[in-house]
Amino acid sequence: MKVKVVTRILEANERLAEENRKRFKEAGVFVMNLMGAPGAGKTSLLEKTILELKTRVRIGVIEGDIAGTDDAERIHNTGVPVVQINTGGACHLDANMISEVLPEMPLGELDMVIVENVGNLVCPAEFKVGEDIKAMVLSITEGHDKPLKYPLMFQESAALVLNKVDLLPYVNVDMQKLKNDAISLNPKLKIFEVSCKTGEGLHRWTEWLNGLK
Ligand code: MG
Ligand code: ZN
Repeated sequence: MKVKVVTRILEANERLAEENRKRFKEAGVFVMNLMGAPGAGKTSLLEKTILELKTRVRIGVIEGDIAGTDDAERIHNTGVPVVQINTGGACHLDANMISEVLPEMPLGELDMVIVENVGNLVCPAEFKVGEDIKAMVLSITEGHDKPLKYPLMFQESAALVLNKVDLLPYVNVDMQKLKNDAISLNPKLKIFEVSCKTGEGLHRWTEWLNGLK
């Protein structure tokens, strides 16, 4: 029975996530699991967030990608500790992958760890990694139909960052529908409209995040 197998995998993952959470708690580290489709702007948002907060918040990053180290190199250039996980094909991070790289994260010297999940709107929302909150980045170029097509990701997220708003004049996206549908799935969802390219709206986001740690 496929359903039972899936349930057991998720239960085992949940136990490991709880162990990770304890390790983060003991170190006094706040953890955000950042999700979103490939190209939404997860790494760009991280770069901007780190540059804005790093004098006040000691941030470390765990980068999840199927292959390559491009994102980790971008984060490394901001001057904060970063570890790259290559899943070798898996389309999400799980708690075990995080626990394996924790010895490489200087938790005692950090206030916040941001986990950038594999670009994917589906299963990253199902797997806890030990985070305090999940958040998601959605590029407005992805369209206003995404909340109703991928509801779990919106339901699991504490915040929705709508990126690339500088492209609004060129994109057929109904922002009101996008926001209404997202809120209908998750009435507590915090929505931030930003452009990582122009910097618009980023201050509100970074101050909100800073207030959570
Ligand atoms: Mg990335
Ligand atoms: Zn997956």
